[in-house]
Amino acid sequence: MTQQEFLNQIRFDEKGLVPVITQDAHAKKVRMLAYMNREALEKTLETGKVHYYSRSRKSLWLKGETSGHFQYLKSMSVDCDGDTLLIQIDQEGGISCHTGHATCFFTTLDRIGNVQVTSLARKASGHNMLTELQETILERKLVPQEGSYTNYLFEKGVNKILKKVGEEASEVIIAAKDKNPEELTGEIADLMYHLTVLMVEEGVCWEDVQSELDKRK
Ligand code: AMP
Ligand code: ZN
Ligand code: ZN
Ligand code: ZN
Repeated sequence: MTQQEFLNQIRFDEKGLVPVITQDAHAKKVRMLAYMNREALEKTLETGKVHYYSRSRKSLWLKGETSGHFQYLKSMSVDCDGDTLLIQIDQEGGISCHTGHATCFFTTLDRIGNVQVTSLARKASGHNMLTELQETILERKLVPQEGSYTNYLFEKGVNKILKKVGEEASEVIIAAKDKNPEELTGEIADLMYHLTVLMVEEGVCWEDVQSELDKRK
């Protein structure tokens, strides 16, 4: 199928809009739902930055134009009958909702009537431990906490983080040479933590590493 044939499948409603479910390209979680008209879709494809149509403002909306939280299009899927788009994006700053939450869907009612409101910038989980760790570190970066060692590292900057990665890697080597599994476990935990801080600083995520490993299979 050509790109044009794909686009021809999209059915805009009587107001010229199509609902768009916005999904994190890495974590796969749903980040938001919004609408596009034909112009928003064209601008999105042309620039790679996601544009929607704001129903409240009745105008083209470049997501991130005021917040800086731009969304970069990776791919899009059209549903069976062409009346809904699902787009896969990279979220600048990790925040999609104008309330400061990672996802607009932060209020959840469960089957027995309990309502849970996810704390600010805490991303929906459901993936592996390193990704969770990364999200906690990212949250700390976005919302600094007093006395946080993670914030201390970010304040000191990348050279400090690199130094720690080097130190912890050496400590892993020493613990392994000492044939001390408990110490080795602790040092690996230290190393993974500091590596993850480095990744947040440099804008690399564990899903990227996973994709790279998958390619080598
Ligand atoms: P932004 O596009 O992120 O710069 O935000 C601009 C404005 O769009 C905000 O002040 C909100 O009114 C609205 N907005 C941003 N993100 C969302 C969202 N995920 N859902 C609904 N409205 C949003
Ligand atoms: Zn449908
Ligand atoms: Zn929202
Ligand atoms: Zn250590």
